[in-house]
Amino acid sequence: MKKHLWIGLMGTMMWNACAEGPAEKKDTFDYTVEQFADLQLLRFKVHGFEELPLEQKKLVYYLSEAALQGRDILFDQNGKYNLIIRKMLETVYTDYQGDRADTNFVNLETYLKRVWFSNGIHHHYASDKFVPGFTPEFFMQALQSVSEDKLPISEGETLASLCEEVFPVIFDPKVMPKRVNQADGEDLVLTSASNYYEGVTQQEAEDFYAQMKNPNDTMPVMFGMNSRLVKEDGRIQEKVWKSGGLYGQAIDKIIYWLEKAKGVAENEKQKAVIEKVIQFYKDGDLKTFDEYAILWVKDLDSRVDFVNGFTESYGDPLGMKASWESIVNFKDLVSTKRTETISANAQWFEDHSPVDKRFKKEEVKGVSAKVITGAIIAGDLYPATAIGINLPNSNWIRSVHGSKSVTIGNFTDAYNKAAHGNGFSDEFVYSEVEKTYLEKYGDLTGDLHTDLHECLGHGSGQLLPGVDPDALKAYGSTIEEARADLFGLYYLPDVKMQELGLTPDADAYKAEYYSFMMNGLMTQLVRIELGNNVEEAHMRNRQLIARWAFEKGAGDKVTELVKRNGKTYVKVNDYEKLRTLFGQLLSEIQRIKSEGDFEAARKLVETYAVKIDPELHKEVLTRYAKLNLAPYKGFVNPLYTAETDAEGHITDVTISYEEGYAEQMLRYSRDYANLPYRNE
Ligand code: ZN
Repeated sequence: MKKHLWIGLMGTMMWNACAEGPAEKKDTFDYTVEQFADLQLLRFKVHGFEELPLEQKKLVYYLSEAALQGRDILFDQNGKYNLIIRKMLETVYTDYQGDRADTNFVNLETYLKRVWFSNGIHHHYASDKFVPGFTPEFFMQALQSVSEDKLPISEGETLASLCEEVFPVIFDPKVMPKRVNQADGEDLVLTSASNYYEGVTQQEAEDFYAQMKNPNDTMPVMFGMNSRLVKEDGRIQEKVWKSGGLYGQAIDKIIYWLEKAKGVAENEKQKAVIEKVIQFYKDGDLKTFDEYAILWVKDLDSRVDFVNGFTESYGDPLGMKASWESIVNFKDLVSTKRTETISANAQWFEDHSPVDKRFKKEEVKGVSAKVITGAIIAGDLYPATAIGINLPNSNWIRSVHGSKSVTIGNFTDAYNKAAHGNGFSDEFVYSEVEKTYLEKYGDLTGDLHTDLHECLGHGSGQLLPGVDPDALKAYGSTIEEARADLFGLYYLPDVKMQELGLTPDADAYKAEYYSFMMNGLMTQLVRIELGNNVEEAHMRNRQLIARWAFEKGAGDKVTELVKRNGKTYVKVNDYEKLRTLFGQLLSEIQRIKSEGDFEAARKLVETYAVKIDPELHKEVLTRYAKLNLAPYKGFVNPLYTAETDAEGHITDVTISYEEGYAEQMLRYSRDYANLPYRNE
C-alpha cells in the first residue's frame, strides 16, 4: 500500500475513536457537521494557518484553487454518467417546488449527498452501486417540474431521451453494479463501471500494455497511468489526460493556478517542482512525470507542500490508471519536533530494547516522519481522506531516490475530537479511572505510539545472516506489525520518554495500554461481521498482542474480562506487569523474525490472532449498533478567501469554517464545473 493508514475503511481510526481529547484543552471548535447513511462529515482545523507569513498563505491559497479545479475529473473517472447524474440531482435538489418533506424527496437528498461523498454513484469504499430510495416516477416528475436549461441535456437530446439512457444506470441494479470489480475469473475491465476503458476487453488492455514494457528497463515509467484506453474504428489507443487532450478544460484551470503558485514559491527547489507539474499537465509525457516525482521527493525543506495529479490506482481493476487527487499542506513544526526527537535517539532505544543482542542492529537510523497540517483536500482525497501519505508510487524511484512519508496531524486530531462524547467510551470503558486516563492522555499517547511504531519499530532489529526476509510468508505482515507495535508499547512507560519531554508523567502510558487492550480484546470486533475471523494484518496483530498478554497474565490477573449487568469490560489491574509481558512478547517476536521461524509465527498467529469468541463478538456488535455511529467519515473543507487592496494585490488570506456540507458541494459544482457532462 502506497498510502498507509486509510481512514475510510475505519482502519486505524476506530481504534482511535476510544481515545478522547484532553479535558483541560477547552476546545469550542465544532468538529462534527452531519451524519447520513453510513457516513459522517467532520471538519478539520488548520492549526497555524493564521501564523504563516503572507507569501506562504498566498501559496496555500493558489494551490488550494488548483486543487478544487480538478473536481470534475474524478467524477468522470469514477463513471461516465456521474457528471450528468450529479447535475440532474442537484437541479431537483435546489429547484424542486413540490413537497420537500415527501419521502421520495428526502431519500433523493440522501442519495445526492452520497453521490457527492463518493464522487459518483458507487460506494467510495465498497464500490457497490447505491440503491436509490426514491422511485423513477418521482424523479421523472421532479425533472419535468424544473427548468430544462438547468438540466444536462445536450444538443439533439430531449429530457425523455436523457432519462431513457440514464435511468437504468441509477435504478437498474444489473447495470454498472460495481465501480471496481475484482471477482476472479470475470473480465474485470468490462464488468467495472469506472471510466478508464471504453470498448476494450481485459485481454486487449493487458496485451496493449504488455507490448510496451521492456523487461530490461531499470527505470520504467508507469505505463497507462494518465489516460483512458479506448477502441475506436477498430484501433486501440490511449486518450491522454492533458491540456488539449481529455480533461483538458479542467487541467488548463489547474495550470492557471499552479502558475500563480509558482510566482510565490518559497525557494528554487519548490519552484522547480511546480514547473514540472505544469509541464506534465501540458505534455502528458510519463517521463516528465518521473522527473517531477524525483524533484518532489527531494524537496524536503519547504514549509508548504502539495500533491496535485493522477496518483493512486485503486480505482482501476488492472491497477494502472491513476485517479486524480490533490492535497495542500504545511509542516507542523511542533509535532515534527516530536518525531525528530524520537529519531535522534534511535540508537538508545535499540540498545535498551528487551531483545537478544544477536537480533539488534549495531547501527540504527530512525526515520524522521514528518507531521503535516492538511489545508485542503480534493479529488480522491475528498471528502474521505487518508491520514498518511507515502509517495511516489514508482518502484524504481522509491528505491533509487526514496519516498516521502507524512502523517496528517490535524486530520487525526479532528477524528479524535469528534469522537469525544459519541458514547463509545461510556459504553465500553470499565470505569471513571480509565476514562480519566483516556481523556487526559489518550490523544498524546496514541500519537506517540504511532510515532514509535513508524519511526523506530519497523526499523529496529536485524535478520540473522542467511535468513530469507520472506520466510514467514503469509504470517509475515502480522508479525511485522506486532513487532513495531510492541516496540512502541514497551517504551511508552520508560522514564526515557519523560526525560525526552515526550510524556508528561509516569501515568500517561496507561491511557494507551488500556485502550490497546480494550481494542485488541474487544472493541475492534465492531469492524468484523458475525461469523467471520480476523483477517486484516493490523487487526490480527492487535488481537495477537492483547490475547497473548491477557492469557500469559491470567494467573496474576494482570488483565481481566469482567462482567457487569450482562456487559463485558476490560480491566487492567497491573500496568507494570503488562509492560513486562509486552517486553517478553517483543523479544520472542523479534526472535521469530530474526531466525525466520515460520512454525512459531504460524502458531502464534493461529492461536491468538485469528479466532473470535462468538458470544463476545455478538455482544460487542449489539452494544456498538446502539450507539448509532457512522463507520465511514469524511471532511468538509475550510473556505479560503483572498483579501485584496485597491490594486487587486492580495493583502491577506483568511480562513473560515462555517460552510455546511451541501452548501460546499453546491458551491464547488457551481464554481468548479470545468468539464462537459460527457467526456469522450
Ligand atoms: Zn506498521
